[in-house]
Amino acid sequence: MNKFLACGILFMVAILGWLFWPTNAVPILAYHQVGEVDEEIYSVTASQFEEQMKYLKENGYHAISLEDLFNSYTGKTALPEKPIVITFDDGYEDNYLTALPIMEQYGMSATVFVVPSLIGTTDYLSWQQVADMQKRHTEIGSHTMSHVGMNEINATEQRREAAESKAALERQIRTSIQFFAYPYGQFSAGAQQILKETGYRGACTGLAGLNNENTDPYALKRINVPQPKYGLWEFRLRLFRAHIYSKLGL
Ligand SMILES: [Zn+2]
Repeated sequence: MNKFLACGILFMVAILGWLFWPTNAVPILAYHQVGEVDEEIYSVTASQFEEQMKYLKENGYHAISLEDLFNSYTGKTALPEKPIVITFDDGYEDNYLTALPIMEQYGMSATVFVVPSLIGTTDYLSWQQVADMQKRHTEIGSHTMSHVGMNEINATEQRREAAESKAALERQIRTSIQFFAYPYGQFSAGAQQILKETGYRGACTGLAGLNNENTDPYALKRINVPQPKYGLWEFRLRLFRAHIYSKLGL
């Protein structure tokens, strides 16, 4: 065989091996609604969600909370094999009625970012449901007080959205609220600083990728899971794409 061709093949094999080799970086999935909803970007059906949870279980993934993830960075918690964080934004009632029983069936748990001013309104969780989810191993986080984009408001308002939502949630569920998700994925250096000052340990964005101890804690990356057009393959591809992003340092 031509020497150059042999070298080329070896090089390709090495690159592919490196790309496919597992990382210790952790995926964070981002869901909104689970059920028959018109907005396909922000929902998956119950059967699609079940198929995805089943896939995670059968492929050795273990759901952890963001608290577990952050505690692992300081050596306080040892992570299980193939850790994954499952998050929901907005706090829809179907997270409780539909997603929670499916997750429990497959031994999974989630982090739900709720908006205190929406709690108890049509289609959203009630306080009682939020409290019950928390009892059933759901981590509760803040998604601002009124679901406003952080880039639409000034620093004083950003601070109020961050601090008031944290306080309102802590008053109701009597547990420290440590994590935040930016509505519409909007964030800035100023907003990150405010979250730090108001006592949050970290915040989720809409940026794609995986996370490790070197990831900015106030700019956590996620894998958005909209309604798949190509079934489970699309879900697997999204997980793999995030892995590649992480490998390439994107
Ligand atoms: Zn939202």
